[in-house]
Amino acid sequence: MTDQRTDPEQRIAIVTGGGRGIGAAVGRRLARDGMAVALVDLRQEDADAAAAEITAAGGRAVGVAADVSDEESVAGAVGRVEAELGAPTVLVNNAGILRDNLLFKMSVDDWDAVLGVHLRGAFLMSRAVQKHQVDQGWGRIVNLSSSSALGNRGQANYSAAKAGMQGFTKTLAIELGPFGVTVNAIAPGFIETAMIAQTAERMKVPLETFLTEAAKQIAVRRVGQPDDVAAAAAYFCSEEAGYVSGQVLYVAGGPLS
Ligand code: NAP
Repeated sequence: MTDQRTDPEQRIAIVTGGGRGIGAAVGRRLARDGMAVALVDLRQEDADAAAAEITAAGGRAVGVAADVSDEESVAGAVGRVEAELGAPTVLVNNAGILRDNLLFKMSVDDWDAVLGVHLRGAFLMSRAVQKHQVDQGWGRIVNLSSSSALGNRGQANYSAAKAGMQGFTKTLAIELGPFGVTVNAIAPGFIETAMIAQTAERMKVPLETFLTEAAKQIAVRRVGQPDDVAAAAAYFCSEEAGYVSGQVLYVAGGPLS
């Protein structure tokens, strides 16, 4: 068994939703920091494309197709990572979807789909990976929450899921801390990805206008980029962050309250 506790170069990370957007940026960053990275995404071709970018830059990566909300699919994905790269000890629960609607128009399917990917997905992935972390006596889990956890019109399902991620994070931090595992959450504000393009489309606002108007409301007067979130994830996954656990870091270009 390789010793991931003492040798950072041996560490193996899984990033869910790693095929694009924030997940792909986190994968690139962890690979740059020396980890082997498995990018888990719904479509094999998306996961492979993100992995190819990392390997082209000299890193180690594989793409793995899986649906994080499905128990069997998660077991298969984590098993494949173990077989192809080794036992994973770093997990970034990033996969996410939006199904926005005002409460009176929100369907049960929209509710279940969002809770299923974000919360059930993070639960299934964390439960599968913690075994390897406990075996190694070392690990890092980073959960993607959102500023929407504080409430956002049209996102009852998403804000409930993202607030749930914060409680989930704090509880795992308590349970896994004795085994050398830290668990933290990142709550991004407005980050320029396909998810934002989807929101602009729903609101019938041209993307450029949506971005410009959003930037005016943000303290640092710009929208966030996936690398802004990747930098925070890299910190939580680092050796130096070993005494930081159960925290929620807002990466939003300003304070939120
Ligand atoms: P994105 O561009 O939409 O990427 C999300 C990725 O997750 C996609 O590749 C998607 O695959 C994948 N995915 C969806 N359902 C999945 C499932 N069941 N199993 C595996 N993979 C799945 O989103 P993003 O903006 O990078 O967001 C990443 C995370 O940050 C999400 O949790 C999001 O809620 C959170 N966040 C984003 C923002 C923002 O402003 N962008 C703000 C706060 C929080 P497909 O492409 O096949 O759908």
